[in-house]
Amino acid sequence: MDHRIATLAVHAGRVGLKEAGVHAPPIDLSTTYPTPDPAEATASLEAFVEGAAHAPNPVYARLYNPTVARFEEALATLEGAEESVAFSSGMAVLTAIVLATQERGRHIVAVRPLYGGSDHLLGTGLLGNSVSFVTPEGVAEAIRPDTAFVLVETPANPTVALTDIEAVVRAAGQVPVVVDSTFATPILQRPLEHGAAFVMHSATKFLGGHGDVIAGVVATSARWAGKLRQVRILTGSLLHPLGAFLLLRGLATLRLRVLAAQDNAILLATRLARHPAVARVHYPTQVSGTTSALLRRQMAGPGAVLAFELHPGIDADAFLAQLRLITPAVSLGSVDSLIQRPAALTHHVVDPAAREGAGIAPGLLRLSAGIEDGEDLWADLAQALEAVAGHARAA
Ligand SMILES: *Cc1c(COP(=O)(O)O)cnc(C)c1O
Repeated sequence: MDHRIATLAVHAGRVGLKEAGVHAPPIDLSTTYPTPDPAEATASLEAFVEGAAHAPNPVYARLYNPTVARFEEALATLEGAEESVAFSSGMAVLTAIVLATQERGRHIVAVRPLYGGSDHLLGTGLLGNSVSFVTPEGVAEAIRPDTAFVLVETPANPTVALTDIEAVVRAAGQVPVVVDSTFATPILQRPLEHGAAFVMHSATKFLGGHGDVIAGVVATSARWAGKLRQVRILTGSLLHPLGAFLLLRGLATLRLRVLAAQDNAILLATRLARHPAVARVHYPTQVSGTTSALLRRQMAGPGAVLAFELHPGIDADAFLAQLRLITPAVSLGSVDSLIQRPAALTHHVVDPAAREGAGIAPGLLRLSAGIEDGEDLWADLAQALEAVAGHARAA
């Protein structure tokens, strides 16, 4: 389909519906499939085990599911990828990438900061890997003959720091680069166009968009997708078809949601930066020079997540306790606004020194703007700031 992204977001993944005489994609909950032709079933099984995307008979739902395949088709289209492979969570995607790339080696280069769970998974070496945590400038030097891949998150969770994907790809040389693009979504950034080999998402966040699906997805070449499907079959890290249905439904409004939430994030970042109780705002538009040039070159907008720090002496948790509309909770990318303190929750598992080294101060707050009215969101932040800053002044 040669259409623009707003059209693709609505129509991708809908192939064959008209012919089937339905309008909404069917949810196929079968765990097994009749095998009237044994030879065809065996050939299909062999094809799936070799990593095929589909075969004449699905055989068993751990091998293939048509509802999941629709979501994968749609996401691959939006990312401009040959294929995509969906998993039970974002962490299951990272696990599968580590396992699928082990033929290259067991050393991983990871640019910090990363989502706390990703940092912890790689750091523990649970999957038999070693890791070098680096800054973007340190990538080239960290590469070894047994480096399987380079992982970079941009915008990064939780500081929203941007990394130049093309510069990392150059520094990585022959080593494939994995971009976690959860914060950007294909609406704002398409890493494969900048030379990345894999783009991964915690689909739990913006792709689902309503806080009711845990899922992950990775878009890549047909060759890597085949390896990832092999890992998915063996480890059973499947996306449930109901989740796939909700994700496909979420993609149709992805552009509208991301742009509306981004408008709110821009408004909140601007107002927070001017507020006397706020020491620092982390958001791509609040940084000048190379970051704004990179933002223009690499992204279609700064996104819907921001972070900020209150002045020393103002207790961040006391501030959170004053909020009435914005929910203190982990996760992000939902239609409603969520806020949390990474050092206490999402990045609590990261070594404190490493955390601070990556710019995650103890009092840093991460805010994921939803699609509510921006003035209502600001009024909530302003009354909570007034409550704690007024208290700090009185003390
Ligand atoms: C949430 C998140 C993950 C992990 O995804 P799950 O769906 O929770 O497993 C990975 N990367 C980023 C950037 C995230 O925000």
